[in-house]
Amino acid sequence: MAIETTVQTFKNLINGEWVDSLSNATFESKNPAKESDVVGRFQASVEADVNQAMEAAERAFQTWRSVSPTKRAEILYKAADLLEAKLDQYAEELTREEGKTLASSKMEVKRSAQTLRYYAFEGMNIAGETLPSEDPTISIYTKKEPLGVVTVITPWNFPISIPVRKIAPALVTGNTVVFKPASDTPLIALRLVQALHEAGLPAGVINFITGSASQTGNALVTHPAVKAVTFTGSTSAGVAIQRSVRLSTRVQLELGGKNPLLVMEDADPEYAAELAIKGGFELTGQACTGTSRVIVMESVHDRFVQALIEKTKKLNIGNGSTSGVEIGPLANASQLKNVLAYIEIGKAEGASLAYGGEQLTGSEYEEGYFVRPAIFTNVTPSMRIAQEEIFGPVISVIRVGSFEEAMKVASDVEYGLSAAICTQDSAKIQHFVNNIQSGVVKVNRPTTGNAPHVPFGGVKMSSTATYRESGRGALEFYTQIKSVYHGM
Ligand code: NAD
Repeated sequence: MAIETTVQTFKNLINGEWVDSLSNATFESKNPAKESDVVGRFQASVEADVNQAMEAAERAFQTWRSVSPTKRAEILYKAADLLEAKLDQYAEELTREEGKTLASSKMEVKRSAQTLRYYAFEGMNIAGETLPSEDPTISIYTKKEPLGVVTVITPWNFPISIPVRKIAPALVTGNTVVFKPASDTPLIALRLVQALHEAGLPAGVINFITGSASQTGNALVTHPAVKAVTFTGSTSAGVAIQRSVRLSTRVQLELGGKNPLLVMEDADPEYAAELAIKGGFELTGQACTGTSRVIVMESVHDRFVQALIEKTKKLNIGNGSTSGVEIGPLANASQLKNVLAYIEIGKAEGASLAYGGEQLTGSEYEEGYFVRPAIFTNVTPSMRIAQEEIFGPVISVIRVGSFEEAMKVASDVEYGLSAAICTQDSAKIQHFVNNIQSGVVKVNRPTTGNAPHVPFGGVKMSSTATYRESGRGALEFYTQIKSVYHGM
């Protein structure tokens, strides 16, 4: 991939105009596989920029709320076409900015176009209901109305597919949006906004602000115009947002995970190892649904660990834009620091580092944030590496003596996002599906991966949302019910 020599400066979108921040300052987005490669400069926005975006969104809501669902759908369909028309360019930019492999980036951009189309269609199904009336001269019905201005705050790990699964249902139900992406991945977020803008969204319906959480976060969630905040990110940031919003603001928080894969005695150790690698190491372990604990029955433990190490050794680590690379860099310097710190914590806690865990340096890794995927064995359930979200390619293998113990260990964490089991035993599968404390359940599938039309979210500290993201129910978060009693 050719790297541009001149660094472009990108702007915020407020009220339909691409504008500089009132701060007159910018920040750089860098390539995590090669730190000296600056992807672009973006506006270091401040509270005053957020306020302007909020005012624009509030004004635009007065007309957008009454635009027909067919017209809204047309814009979303067109934006999907615009994204797909530049799929190769956008996938390259995503990889350059976030680090994941080109194949993963292509899939993510493609999925994002599909998600736009899915919600364009679903927008035609926003329906209330008619209800029985005791008085025949009065008809009673409900209608669903948009909320107003929705703040969308997103992380860097799925930097276009997470924004689109919030923005598309918000827009199609008649809300207006103020969107702030993570500062590691503003370019691909901007591409989504560009597509929606060019597809014909009226001025102010989507507003785009880049910058730090410290300068923009408070205004984004507490401005009086904000009727809902949809956030995906770390648990600590989610908790801070929940504490600062107004009582009347709807909040949807999609947070962390500590996702288990249970390997039962009848499991094929080779297949179980493939599931663990796909869930735990692909995307460099930086998925909220990533496999971070493998809970393995005693009888299959050694064969599983051996298969896991053998397969991990063969993984091709490098710049995600290079053909054949399977594991890219971590997304930024603090991610690298954090993952290396957890490797030390695991060792100090008495777990055995069976493979990997070292930073990869040398000419083939340029100045990127590379780490060799790590496998810890002899992990006990109370260790920090078995309890805390690491958000990197680190798998903790926990040995158990019974299915009951496996179930207990699996649920004995504060999170409950995704959980998988590897077995053909239908009684165990049924028990697992019925009892595991998890929003997403996988049987003989990796903990990662979800489709745009399927509800997504967790339980416990993984998700505070009353409404699931993705799928039909996602529209519920963005609408409120009005009950109408219609007499003669
Ligand atoms: P992060 O919480 O640091 O940042 C996420 C976004 O929130 C960024 O745009 C950031 O600028 C903003 N932000 C941070 N603090 C804020 C505040 N106080 N007020 C307003 N905005 C604030 O998360 P990250 O490092 O970008 O992403 C990794 C985390 O995201 C992991 O914990 C991962 O599990 C989680 N995640 C969850 C899901 C899910 O669906 N449950 C999906 C992907 C990632």
